[in-house]
Amino acid sequence: MDKQIPAIFGEMVFNDAEMKARLPHDTYEALHRTIELGRPIDIGMANVIADAMKDWAVEKGATHFTHWFHPMTGYTAEKHDSFITPQPGGAVMMEFSGKELVKGEPDASSFPSGGLRATFEARGYTAWDPTSYAFVKDNTLCIPTAFCSFRGEVLDKKTPLLRSTDAVSREAVRVLRLFGRQVKRVSSTVGAEQEYFLIDKKHYAKREDLILTGRTLFGAPAPKGQEMEDHYFGSIRPRVKAFMEELDIELWRLGIYAKTEHNEAAPCQHEMAPVFTTVNIATDQNQLTMEVMKRVADRHGLVCLLHEKPFEGINGSGKHNNWSISTDDGENLFEPGDTPSSNAQFLLFLTAIIKGVDEYQDLLRLSVASAGNDRRLGADEAPPAIVSVYVGDELERVIGAIVEGSAYEDSARTFMNIGVTALPRIPKDNTDRNRTSPFAFTGNKFEFRMLGSDFNIGCTNVILNTIMADELAQFAEELEQAADFEKALAELITRELRAHERILFSGNGYSREWQEEAERRGLLNLRTTPEALERYTAQKNLDLFARHGIYTAQEVASRREILLDEYVKTVRIEARTMLDMIRRQIVPAVMKFEGDLAETAVRKENLFLSSDAERGILKALTLLTERLIGETDDLEKTLDSTCGETLAAAYACAKTVLPAMEKARATADDLEKRTGRTYWPFPTYEDILFYV
Ligand code: ADP
Ligand code: MG
Repeated sequence: MDKQIPAIFGEMVFNDAEMKARLPHDTYEALHRTIELGRPIDIGMANVIADAMKDWAVEKGATHFTHWFHPMTGYTAEKHDSFITPQPGGAVMMEFSGKELVKGEPDASSFPSGGLRATFEARGYTAWDPTSYAFVKDNTLCIPTAFCSFRGEVLDKKTPLLRSTDAVSREAVRVLRLFGRQVKRVSSTVGAEQEYFLIDKKHYAKREDLILTGRTLFGAPAPKGQEMEDHYFGSIRPRVKAFMEELDIELWRLGIYAKTEHNEAAPCQHEMAPVFTTVNIATDQNQLTMEVMKRVADRHGLVCLLHEKPFEGINGSGKHNNWSISTDDGENLFEPGDTPSSNAQFLLFLTAIIKGVDEYQDLLRLSVASAGNDRRLGADEAPPAIVSVYVGDELERVIGAIVEGSAYEDSARTFMNIGVTALPRIPKDNTDRNRTSPFAFTGNKFEFRMLGSDFNIGCTNVILNTIMADELAQFAEELEQAADFEKALAELITRELRAHERILFSGNGYSREWQEEAERRGLLNLRTTPEALERYTAQKNLDLFARHGIYTAQEVASRREILLDEYVKTVRIEARTMLDMIRRQIVPAVMKFEGDLAETAVRKENLFLSSDAERGILKALTLLTERLIGETDDLEKTLDSTCGETLAAAYACAKTVLPAMEKARATADDLEKRTGRTYWPFPTYEDILFYV
C-alpha cells in the first residue's frame, strides 16, 4: 500500500503538475500570473484551460461538470451539467467552453440571501476561483467558484474569504517593506483539525432526533461515559479502523493532506488532522473532508455525526483552526526570530493580532455562533464563550517586561533592554500548551478552538484576516511617517500591548473564576447566538469591513439575518421533533409499560398477593408522565413566541424555547431510567455509544 500512496495522491485533482503537463506554456504562465497576482482571465485563455480540464476530467471518468460553491447554508452546493453537445446526425461530443468554466448562472432563489435579493431577480452567478484546484468527485468535474447576486452582492462564504486574503496580504506586504523586506504576497495558512462521531447506522435510523436535528434530544446518561479516559488515543476498533483507512485514501485522491487519525475523548468520537495549506484551499478541503466522511461512513454501515453536541454529558465536537500568515518566499510571520530585528518584526505582528482580538472579540465569537455550538462552548470541554489569547509562559514574560518597561531576563539569564536594537531572543515554547484557551499561540501559529465541528471555516478566517489587515494598516500608517523607525516601533509595541494586555489569559479557561475575572476585565461573554449575532452590525464592525472592502453594510445585515434565521429554524425544528417524539413515541411506550404493570397488579391482587411493588413503580411513572405531558404543552406554547421579527424570535428561542426543552428532556430521561428496557421506543445512549 505504502508505495501506491504517492501515486494516488491528488489523482482526482487538476493540480499544478497536471496543468503544467497539459496546458500550452504561455497559458500555464498566464494562469499563474492570475493566481499569484489576481489578474483577470481572458476568454481565449479560458477556452484553452477549459478544454484541457475537460479532457483530463473525462479520463478520470467524469461525464458532468459543476460549479462548486459555498452558499450561506452549511455545506456546499452543486448543479450538474453534462459535457454532451448534440452534433448533426444524432451524435454527441463532449464539450466544455471557457465561458462555462469561468461563469455559471444557477437559479439563486432557493439559497438564503437575507433580503439581499428579491425573487424576481433570482439570477445569481458563480465565478471560477482559479486559486483553488478543480477536482473530480462522483464522475463530476467540480470547479471551485464564488457565488454572487446578479448585482454583485456576495451570497457565499468564499468571496469574502478571498477579499480578506487580499486585504491581509496588502497590509502585511506594506509592513514588511518597513523592515526592508520586499515580498509580493503574503498568504494566510490554515490547518483545520476535524472532530466527529461515528455511530452504527442501525441505531441512527431508529432515532428521529438524530435524523432530523443531528443530535439526541433525549437520553439518560449511560452507566459509563468518558470518565475512564480509555477512549482518547485508545486503540481503534476494527470497523472504525477500516473507515479511517478508506477515508484517508479518498481524501488523498482528492489531494487532501490527511495526516493524523485518532480517537477523541468521548466514546465513538474521533479526529482527523490534515497538514496545513493556504486558507482558501484549506476551506475547500475542509468542506470536502466533511462530505467524504459522511459518504465513507455510509459504506461501512456507520453514520458520521458532525453536530457540535450530539450527546449530552460527554464531549461535543469542535474544529481547531490553526492559522498563520507567511510570505511568498516561505517565511512564517508568527515564527519568533533569532535576531533582534526579526524579533521586532515578530513582536509587531503579535501585537497586531493581540490588539485585533481584543477589539473584535465580538466578531470572533459570532463567527462560531450557532444553536449547536452554544451547547458546547463553556460546557467543560471547550473554551467558554469568552474570547482571550494565550501566548505561553515565555512570551508572556517578554510581554510583561515590555508592558512594565523593565528589563527582560531570558532563560539563559542574560539581561536585555527592550529596545529594537536589543530585543530578546524569543524562545520557542511548544511544550506548555494551554488546552483551555480559545485562541492559543502554539509556537508559530495561533490555534482558534471555538469553532463547532460542522462549521464552514470561511467565516472565522475572514475575521482573522480582516482584523489582522486592519491593525497592520494602522501600524503601517503610523510607522511610515516616523522619523526614527526603531524608536517609533518600540513605542508603538509598548503602547498597544499596554492597551490590550487584558485579553491575555493563561489560566484555566474552563473555570468559574475566569468568568468572574473576565467580567472584571471588561471582556465580553456572549453566551448565546442571538447575543453574539446582534453585534455583527455594530458600527465599529461595519466600518472595519468597509475599510477593507470585505462586506458592505447591507451584506453584513444580510449575513446577520441569515444566521439568526438559521438559528431560529434549528431551534424550532428541534422543539417540534421533541414534541413529536414525546407524544408519539415516549408517552405511548411508557403507557404500555404502565398498562402491563397495572395488569400484573390486578392479576396478583386476584390471587391475594401484594401488588405494592407495581403500585410504587406505577405511581412514580404516572406522576412523571403527567409532568411530561404538562411540560410538552408548555413547550408547544413557547413556539408561538418565535414567529415574529428574527432577532426577537432568536432571543425567544434562547430564553424560552430552549429552557422549556431542557425541562421536558429531564423528565423524559427520568422516565427512561424507570421504564423497562424492551419498552423504550428507541436506542439509548448505552446502545449507541458502546456498539461493537
Ligand atoms: P495538535 O497538537 O493540536 O494536534 P499539531 O501541532 O499537530 O497540533 O498541528 C495542528 C495543525 O496545525 C495541523 O493541521 C498542522 O498542519 C497545522 N499547522 C502547523 N503549522 C501551521 C501554520 N504555519 N499555519 C497553519 N497551520 C499550521
Ligand atoms: Mg489542536
